[in-house]
Amino acid sequence: MNQTCEQVKEYLKKIRKYEQAAALISWDLQTAAPKKSIDSKLEALGFFSTEAFRLSTAEEYGSMLRELSRPEVFAGLDEAMQVTVRRNYRDYQRFQRVPQDFYTDYITTSGRSEKVWEEAKRAGDFSLFAPSLDKMIAMTKEYVGYMEPDKDPYEVLLDMYEEGMDSAAIDAVFSELKNGLLPLLSAIRAAGRPDLASLKGTYDIEAQKKVQDLLLSYIGFDFDAGAAAESEHPFTTGLCHGDIRVTNHYNETLPLSSMFSAIHEGGHAIFEQNIDSAYINTAAEQVNLMGLHESQSRFYENILGRTPAFWTPLYGKLGELLPPFKAIPFDTFCRAINDVHPSFIRTEADEVTYCLHIILRYEMEKAIFQENVPTDRLPALWNDKMEELLGIRPENDAEGILQDMHWSEGSFGYFPSYLLGSVYDGMFLKQIEKELGNLDCILEEGRIQEITAWLKEKIHRYGSIYNSREVIRRVCGGEVSAKPLLDYFRSKYSRIYGF
Ligand code: ZN
Repeated sequence: MNQTCEQVKEYLKKIRKYEQAAALISWDLQTAAPKKSIDSKLEALGFFSTEAFRLSTAEEYGSMLRELSRPEVFAGLDEAMQVTVRRNYRDYQRFQRVPQDFYTDYITTSGRSEKVWEEAKRAGDFSLFAPSLDKMIAMTKEYVGYMEPDKDPYEVLLDMYEEGMDSAAIDAVFSELKNGLLPLLSAIRAAGRPDLASLKGTYDIEAQKKVQDLLLSYIGFDFDAGAAAESEHPFTTGLCHGDIRVTNHYNETLPLSSMFSAIHEGGHAIFEQNIDSAYINTAAEQVNLMGLHESQSRFYENILGRTPAFWTPLYGKLGELLPPFKAIPFDTFCRAINDVHPSFIRTEADEVTYCLHIILRYEMEKAIFQENVPTDRLPALWNDKMEELLGIRPENDAEGILQDMHWSEGSFGYFPSYLLGSVYDGMFLKQIEKELGNLDCILEEGRIQEITAWLKEKIHRYGSIYNSREVIRRVCGGEVSAKPLLDYFRSKYSRIYGF
């Protein structure tokens, strides 16, 4: 066994311990920490995160990775260590190229920009945020320019969030999707919205928590390898192998919101819970492939959770836990969870219009990075695209360009990964039906665990060993295509809306 390889494994264990401590403190800050402990917790969080960062950028670590990158040594490593060396050495080299002063300035500017964005959003006034956005765009270009001087900055950003993906592939997939979705949305709009008055009411929060636990267990979340808590915004966090946690947010009048958040975050968590234990402390255990991760949460939330058959075995229990559901006919419930209509806010959008929200952001990012459209023209461009794609025009910037925080912190190139996740889902569904049979039958008979077992076998257990394009090739055979997702939408919504 290569001695340097053993040293790197020990070194990785050390980094993971700091990361685990940081993740635990961060979890605590968002779910349970009393107000008076916040300063102290933030200080501890800063300490552990900085240590983890210092270790992963240390010269000592870089030279070990360099040694393992030599072709004759690299060839002798197992798959998980090859992935680890390739990714971590790439990141190490990228970071070495960024001047320290610039990096500190970038982090500070991004923190300040987030605050300015919050104020501008509150005021609904883009002009307050424009100078900060301008600076973040320029600095992000400079930042990735240091990391990968020979590449197009936007391509580097896309690859950072979804390794192996580029704008040529995304252009092809998104334009196919856009062409297919616009007529579908027109047909859905023409059919009219369902009457959902019977859902109005008050839904006990303690009971909603029981529903969350029921749903998590039902889809395959392992409570012996995770936990659930409450936070302002739902999220999933992996502390270590054997401890993947989810949070939820409850609202007395919006029971569907916490139910679908539970299924969504549960999907993220099941993915990480199912990663093979052989990959502990390697890069394969950390899934930084945002599209692939999102494909798993969305598969559970949308493909499974919004299919009426998913609820057939559950609807009676739902009524027992949350009695108002007893008075709501099953059919009305199914219409409610598939109420497709244009709206301004991405995070509140249904599964169909959501795709168009992301296409809009992708087109905006290309306008910013590749066409250099001046910042002051961005709000109007946003509104025009909103009208083109969804047929509605925002009244103010808060429900338009200011709604998401991503750009304020420099996360350009992140948005497309959300939609890529759904595109992969269409392909996974097609493959599942080919191998396991009709989805409605499986769900109606309560055999959802067969689907979770399939996802584990084909996708989850490998963690991030393969990037998304490789996963698609291995599991579905072929390249990423929007066609299966469009086929799924067309057949589902023509059935529900009767056109
Ligand atoms: Zn998610």
